Amino acid sequence: MENELLIYNTLHRRKERFVPLHAPHVGMYVCGPTVYGDAHLGHARPAITFDILFRYLTHLGYKVRYVRNITDVGHLENDADEGEDKVAKKARLEQLEPMEVVQYYLNRYHKAMEALNVLSPSIEPHASGHIIEQIEFVQKILDAGYAYESEGSVYFDVEKYSKDHHYGVLSGRNIDDMLENTRELDGQSEKRRGADFALWKKAAPEHIMRWNSPWSVGFPGWHLECSAMGTKYLGEEFDIHGGGMDLIFPHHEAEIAQSCAGLGHDSVKYWMHNNMITINGQKMGKSLGNFITLDEFFTGNHKLLAQAYSPMTIRFFILQAHYRSTVDFSNEALQASEKGLERLLEGYARLQKLHAGKQSTVETAGLREKCEEAMCDDLNTPVVISHLFEALKAINLVHDGKETISQADLDELQSVFRLFVEEVLGLQTGESSASGLEAYKKAVDLLLNIRMDAKRNKDWATSDKIRNELTALGFDIKDTKDGFEWKL
Ligand code: ZN
Repeated sequence: MENELLIYNTLHRRKERFVPLHAPHVGMYVCGPTVYGDAHLGHARPAITFDILFRYLTHLGYKVRYVRNITDVGHLENDADEGEDKVAKKARLEQLEPMEVVQYYLNRYHKAMEALNVLSPSIEPHASGHIIEQIEFVQKILDAGYAYESEGSVYFDVEKYSKDHHYGVLSGRNIDDMLENTRELDGQSEKRRGADFALWKKAAPEHIMRWNSPWSVGFPGWHLECSAMGTKYLGEEFDIHGGGMDLIFPHHEAEIAQSCAGLGHDSVKYWMHNNMITINGQKMGKSLGNFITLDEFFTGNHKLLAQAYSPMTIRFFILQAHYRSTVDFSNEALQASEKGLERLLEGYARLQKLHAGKQSTVETAGLREKCEEAMCDDLNTPVVISHLFEALKAINLVHDGKETISQADLDELQSVFRLFVEEVLGLQTGESSASGLEAYKKAVDLLLNIRMDAKRNKDWATSDKIRNELTALGFDIKDTKDGFEWKL
């Protein structure tokens, strides 16, 4: 490997050479969804960003353990310490068990991720399945003296912690400002300071998700699950922790504080964050009416959408921007992506069918190196895409008979396209996508139904022609009592 992989470490605010703690193994943790509603664009971007990282690290030869958690307890409304649990609220409104809500939306999330060709993580742990680990983690922080118990709840003591450690190291927030702005807690609250956050909450009588603990019957604070599950599956120190930029504060800042307090050191070597998505220049939000779920994009069923957009169009659109840039969704931009993707995939299909000549009159050398270089520069997918588009020009000239390409150059070009289009960027061509597969099955059924009609009409010439030609293509066709069966 000539290039070194550089990734931007949010913790140090600079690009750094990626050196795993235990090569060839890489531990990677990404904050997954809180499952109480349908997945939207805000879920698609981190999923696709870290899918690209997962794919590329694997391509580089690393053995990646990719943990993406499912938050199903402890995430309260407005990301606050008080109020209703997001999952429990949905359960109350729908008159369901909280775990029914979780299962329902998790199934739908998986379906959407599969449509976007996001690979499954290695482990997908649930917060509710790791209550014991979370209680143990709270105990460690209490034992270290960085937390206090109050009315059956346990809070992280930000002021105490900041005397020994740097609270704000990730977000760049100033601890004195934070403490100053949150000084006004006059016994109204269980917390000593507004900046303190919950590690364990005593459950109010109406709170249905509750577990026994040394302090009360209650539930864990939202930030705790990631410290507990990251440590459990990746160890006290691991390579990469990712998520959306909106999680930097308080979620990831709190995670660092919990780990430093409980373990004596931060767990994470590289913190990575994807930028946010806006819709027509506006922040996405339920109250703004511009909250579009992935399903709505795939069906076009939303008043802001001029048409349906395929999952691959959404994926391509996200990859056309660098993951640390903002992305603004608009119909115009999506339609441009749709066209671009079509052009790229058409060129790729054309490339498979090109015939080699004696020698190359087009310049295609160096494409692999240029794409690798772009990926190694902090996963610069837009530059990879532009290199592929550049190569399309040569493909089209050869296709039109204006230029020629040698067998060796053709083999290399096909291999580079397969690698970057399919494996690294994860763009599915029509034939390999679910809808393409469906269409192909229907087309074969259609031909065999025409053959049945022909047989009924004693049109043996047509019937034999269809059977013989499909057989020649490798289809195994069996006539049955009620019709036919086939397989390839
Ligand atoms: Zn998290």
